[in-house]
Amino acid sequence: MMNKLVKALAFDDTIRISCMDASDLVSQAQVKHDTWSSATAALGRTLIGAALMGADIKDDSRLSIKIHGDGPAGRIIAAADGSGHVKGYIDTPHLSLPANADDKIDVAKTVGRNGQVTVSKDLGLKEPFVGQSPIISGEIAEDLTYYLTVSEQTPSAIGLGVLVGPDEKVINAGGWMIQVMPGASEETIKQIEAGVSAVAPVTELLDQGKSPEDIIALLLGTDDIKYLAEKQVGFQCDCSKERFAKGLASLGKEEIASIIQEDGQAETVCHFCNSKYHFDKEELENIYKKAK
Ligand SMILES: [Zn+2]
Repeated sequence: MMNKLVKALAFDDTIRISCMDASDLVSQAQVKHDTWSSATAALGRTLIGAALMGADIKDDSRLSIKIHGDGPAGRIIAAADGSGHVKGYIDTPHLSLPANADDKIDVAKTVGRNGQVTVSKDLGLKEPFVGQSPIISGEIAEDLTYYLTVSEQTPSAIGLGVLVGPDEKVINAGGWMIQVMPGASEETIKQIEAGVSAVAPVTELLDQGKSPEDIIALLLGTDDIKYLAEKQVGFQCDCSKERFAKGLASLGKEEIASIIQEDGQAETVCHFCNSKYHFDKEELENIYKKAK
């Protein structure tokens, strides 16, 4: 199942906006990693952030976000490529903390209020671009907004939300991102700020049946919107047994020989999607032959 990511321009192209209903994306992540509510919300928001921030990169490029705070979640990793494939994981999937004062999932406590946001963009150049900023609230949307504003000098606003039911299933999830381009007028910025501060949480809007286009119109306070090409986004990992075989080969002959001797087999697990790949003795011996 794929989700639709909608991109648009407004106010003489000085405002870029994107919005998506990410219910399927986050639901697939929840099932693959068997996350509990707090982890589902933290991982889900990071996945949506990666999908939104990765919406403009080229097909063969990739963007990854690492959020590493001092909360019980540990590291939260999300990666998106230019073709709309998004994947991710959280160090501690079985995490369900008490609700916060607003009776919402306490994402700030899950992530922690101190730590680092690291964004890496592999655009096919020699070295990936890596930017970093401190975690400011642990709510993820604010942390990514701060990252974009400080590290990439693009004034932005981001809203992210994940609603989880009592059975741990994802009810809905979504997000939006606004970027202010050079040349935006004071009046436009004031109007955007008013829209952002008045808008209801994205999960509430989705629950009311609002589409990404409806949410964009609410945020911008205008119907004069230029929609760009839509993008299909879904949870998809690019791992394969071949790739894990290469990983095993890179351990070197000595290490592989000891695995063959001690276990006679090996099982590898992909962090991103939890797929398991089993290697029997014969396969390990073939890897041994190719290893250095
Ligand atoms: Zn995988």
